[in-house]
Amino acid sequence: MKSRKLLMIPGPVEFEHEVMQAMGAPTNSHVAPAFIESFGNALELMRKVWLSPSGQPFVVAGSGTLAMDLAGANLTEPGDAVLVISTGYFGDRFAELFRRYGAEVKVLSSKPGEVVDTKIIEKELEKGIYKLMCFTHVDTSTAVRVDARLMGELGTRYNVITILDGVCSVAGEEIRQDEWGIDVVLTASQKAIGVPPGLALLMASPKAMLKWSKRKQPVFNYYADWSNWLPIMKAYESRKPAYFGTPAVNLIEALQISLQLILAEGMEQRFVRHEKMASAVRAAFNSLKMKQIPISNELAANTLSAPYYPTGIKGSDLIRHMNEAGIIVAGGLHVDLKAGYFRIGHMGSVNSSDIVSTIGALEQALYKCGYEFTCGKGLEAAQIELSD
Ligand code: PMP
Repeated sequence: MKSRKLLMIPGPVEFEHEVMQAMGAPTNSHVAPAFIESFGNALELMRKVWLSPSGQPFVVAGSGTLAMDLAGANLTEPGDAVLVISTGYFGDRFAELFRRYGAEVKVLSSKPGEVVDTKIIEKELEKGIYKLMCFTHVDTSTAVRVDARLMGELGTRYNVITILDGVCSVAGEEIRQDEWGIDVVLTASQKAIGVPPGLALLMASPKAMLKWSKRKQPVFNYYADWSNWLPIMKAYESRKPAYFGTPAVNLIEALQISLQLILAEGMEQRFVRHEKMASAVRAAFNSLKMKQIPISNELAANTLSAPYYPTGIKGSDLIRHMNEAGIIVAGGLHVDLKAGYFRIGHMGSVNSSDIVSTIGALEQALYKCGYEFTCGKGLEAAQIELSD
């Protein structure tokens, strides 16, 4: 029997073979011409994946939280008013981060599974005091997706710098950074970007770069300071060697490969595929009478799903049985709901066989847990969506 299990958590995800080959290749010098070419190319490809021809890309070794820190450290000065729209765990993290840099933070939180009412956001923005507004595109703790286009519109109308935490959305959910007027779109390598954990990725608009360049005080975080990283990004993009901190050579080689694969599929195709995979998973839950945290399909992410355990089913048993059937899923994360739900990631290179295997394993696990349902019902619903 194959011992390898399918990783269906909301990051890290399963990675393409070519990406893993780049990870395993002998490590080059960070100033070797071949690596300079890969890094420069990766930066150029990022603009295409982010749909941000005018953006300034940053690639720095670290996790998604460093990408958040790059935005927070560089774009806030003490006393700046920052509006955080929180749909769960990661919105709250961003609020905490901004406070560390001396910002006056106002958090508008939604109930779990919901989003903050647009009227409430507008009412706050009408005060005219905010320099920055930040939101989590897909909160990985709730699987709720915020309308990024609308947030970009609001940011433009009220002249704030808009920051999109796209750790669980970039390269999976539709984002048109320039067209939608979003100033910062940040992510990490290990999710829909399709590269093992270790890279913080960020794209800043000319407006964001201008705010940073007009700072009155230095950036308080030495490693995150764009003054250190901007010359490096510019040098590699113009195919010149540069050094501030040793770049994560293999991860950047892998990033270049993954971005090429993403663009070979095409952004439009990729958005459609993620939507299809997600609707198949949701159809299976509905048919199995399993409720989900997002209160409607419109608010549900395409990159992951967050179903509640059915009443009477012990969560740890369900996850264990799925694991025995070869599928690894994640437990809950939202502090208030943690024990009552689990999460299935379906982003990156995920395909319809992965979805069928996952729903098959879910049915086996439900059956072993004694849940009353007709075996095959969830699979049937998923298959219909996938065959559409
Ligand atoms: N934001 C969101 C939406 C996330 O899902 C995560 C990670 N799950 C982070 C930020 C933090 O990323 P990391 O764990 O790579 O630091």
